[in-house]
Amino acid sequence: MERINAWNTYDLEAQKACNSFAKDYMAFMDQSKTERECVDYFVNEAEKNGYRELGQLIREGAALQAGDKVYSVWMDKSLVLFRIGKEPFENGLNIIGAHIDSPRLDVKQNPLFEDTGIAYLDTHYYGGIKKYQYVTIPLALHGVVIKKSGETVIVNIGEDEDDPVFFVSDLLPHLAQEQMKKPAASAVEGEALDLIVGSKPLVIDAETKAGREGKETDAKDAVKKAILSILEMNYGISEEDFESAELEIVPAGRSREAGFDRSMILAYGQDDRACAYPSFRAHLEQEDIQRTSVVLLVDKEEIGSVGATGMQSRYFENALAEVMNLCGCYSELALRRTLANSCMLSSDVSAAFDPGYKSAFESKNSAYFGKGLSFNKFTGARGKSGSNDANAEYIAHLRSIFEEEDVVTQTSELGRVDVGGGGTIAYILALYGMNVIDCGVPVLSMHSPWEAISKADLFEALKGYKAFLKKASFRNM
Ligand code: MN
Ligand code: MN
Repeated sequence: MERINAWNTYDLEAQKACNSFAKDYMAFMDQSKTERECVDYFVNEAEKNGYRELGQLIREGAALQAGDKVYSVWMDKSLVLFRIGKEPFENGLNIIGAHIDSPRLDVKQNPLFEDTGIAYLDTHYYGGIKKYQYVTIPLALHGVVIKKSGETVIVNIGEDEDDPVFFVSDLLPHLAQEQMKKPAASAVEGEALDLIVGSKPLVIDAETKAGREGKETDAKDAVKKAILSILEMNYGISEEDFESAELEIVPAGRSREAGFDRSMILAYGQDDRACAYPSFRAHLEQEDIQRTSVVLLVDKEEIGSVGATGMQSRYFENALAEVMNLCGCYSELALRRTLANSCMLSSDVSAAFDPGYKSAFESKNSAYFGKGLSFNKFTGARGKSGSNDANAEYIAHLRSIFEEEDVVTQTSELGRVDVGGGGTIAYILALYGMNVIDCGVPVLSMHSPWEAISKADLFEALKGYKAFLKKASFRNM
């Protein structure tokens, strides 16, 4: 089966639309490197476009009806958006779900230490990373520190031109004979990912003079003390405040167009913001909604969708129950029927075929750059273990929609059989009995500090998600 290249289908106008969407996407990427920053961005945009906050609507006892737009945030890290359609809820929803967390380094709860005149923040990596990729690159610090008073201090250091950045050192090749013999997985150990944050002792003058007179040069932990005084002065935070902080270390810098032809985008965290952004925009840009539509933008996918803000949490089901209640149609049975009759796209990135590593892929069933939105009937590992295996009847329904709406699509598996595997949030929504399939944008160098996508695939994702929200109507009952 031959797949077409999306670029070949674009006239001048479509190329312009594709480039302009890529520009919007890159602006979003540069403001949203963490799940909290994504939620902030999406909520601002949603409010500008007339979405109202669910908690507020509940307190007001508002009555919702077709045409209304609602959002609900969970713990500032997950978000669900609803647009209420004309059809009854029990006919099912059209749901798109993407995740907004990405692999990174997290700062530990007791992180600050000094060793031999250098101050460090100790880290614990989050999600699947190749640890050796995180050394010797400029890193930025994003997150929040919550003080005992409840005050939130927002931290974002390393993105502005004038900001300092941070880094993890690596051993020079001259002395790395032993290190270079190690397997890549252990060449840089997890516990070696300590972030360098300073090197200047607190009191220079007095101690230096003392040193000249033959006394001890440095006060104990003088560099660490200097960092603490900067944290106190600039942010009003103390060492103990790290206990109630969520600080994420991510590659510093902006997303970039890539290639002479500018056909690609290089950026941090495109898994899965390359799907989250078009999912959100598709939801925003719908017209004349028949079935109620939902976009889920969730946290914790990279560590198994666990925790109160991960997809396994009940907050989506709870929010849906509340929305149905405000529409005057909630009952336990109505909720269950609504979920069972829903259609879902689990909107998550695919591994793009990498010609440099052909042996990891099976070429007939791989996702290719430029060949559009990629569908994975299943993910998982080995004998499809852990996967949501999408129903053939549902796939046929989607094929007809994408053909009608001129969306360029392809199908793929995650690599050759038995080479590895992976999962998404698809299987969790499938627990309700609804139809779910994985689909998303192919990514090169997935989970690396700078992942790459094709602008055409990003644009086809937007087109595909719009087509889905407009036309999906498959029901199980
Ligand atoms: Mn993903
Ligand atoms: Mn991932």
